[in-house]
Amino acid sequence: NAKAQGKNTFQFYYAELDKGTSRKMELDNALRKAIELNQLFLCYQPKIHLETGEVLGVEALLRWDHPSLGLIYPDEFISLAEETGLIVPIGQWVIQRALEQSKDWEEKGLGKINVAVNISVRQMQDDSFVNTVEQIVEDVGMEPSRLELEITESIMQDPERSVAILHKLKALNIMLAIDDFGTGYSSLSKLRYLPIDHIKIDKSFVDDIPDFTERGSIVKAIIEMGKSLNFTIIAEGIEKEEQIAFLVENSCIIGQGYHLSVPLTAEQIELFLKKQM
Ligand code: C2E
Ligand code: MG
Ligand code: MG
Ligand code: MG
Repeated sequence: NAKAQGKNTFQFYYAELDKGTSRKMELDNALRKAIELNQLFLCYQPKIHLETGEVLGVEALLRWDHPSLGLIYPDEFISLAEETGLIVPIGQWVIQRALEQSKDWEEKGLGKINVAVNISVRQMQDDSFVNTVEQIVEDVGMEPSRLELEITESIMQDPERSVAILHKLKALNIMLAIDDFGTGYSSLSKLRYLPIDHIKIDKSFVDDIPDFTERGSIVKAIIEMGKSLNFTIIAEGIEKEEQIAFLVENSCIIGQGYHLSVPLTAEQIELFLKKQM
């Protein structure tokens, strides 16, 4: 009967909640040791010129190879790491690893590959963020312009502080991108005064392409307005050929997505680049 069912649902809910909490604590403990135990690694998704197919750079995406739970994706541990602050040392590791990898590719004769790294707001709240980034770039011995930081619109929740940090990073010659554009609350006109190089249109908008009615025209409007403000527009999450045609027709010529390439391991990127040479 309904009453009994309700009770079962209730108990089920708590059992699930409990499971969720203990999995979280388990993950938190394990994540604390993950760096030194060498369990974290990066995959790289190419950024492609949509007309020529040229690789314009790669985006580093974090993966965790957990000994018993297997491969864990960022959606399951980044927010946890943000909550606990662990994202700060992890984020430093990511920047360093990505730059070292780019250097390694260069030494192997694969050219100067630009690397983009995702940055959480929590990392930027750390007072030493800019200095740390500068130090890592210097230690690895890399032109700062080969590093790009992908940040989300949520930085605009603290505009004054964010603007100051972005200007400091730009003064170091580091490239800056707004990731997942369109999902936050900022407008392009608010971003116009920021020293941003690239705007990445969120996959949810790219999914609407090609739809020549209202939804498709939102993408068109973002591209047009972004261009008029001198941002380079990158489309993320391209899964179909016809999306490419629409983007190129509307002058968005850089993209990422499974249709172009899924995120690859460092070794796979090597092969990917060699095939292009
Ligand atoms: P993001 O920066 O927007 O990265 C794009 C995500 O979409 C990646 O998922 C990528 O694998 C996936 N993707 C790319 N192309 C396609 C496509 O065509 N179709 C579909 N369905 N998905 C596609 P991933 O690697 O699981 O990363 C998820 C998010 O986790 C990232 O979103 C980023 O916000 C965050 N993240 C990843 N690595 C790091 C990191 O090192 N530090 C921080 N702070 N966040 C990270
Ligand atoms: Mg990103
Ligand atoms: Mg994105
Ligand atoms: Mg995203």
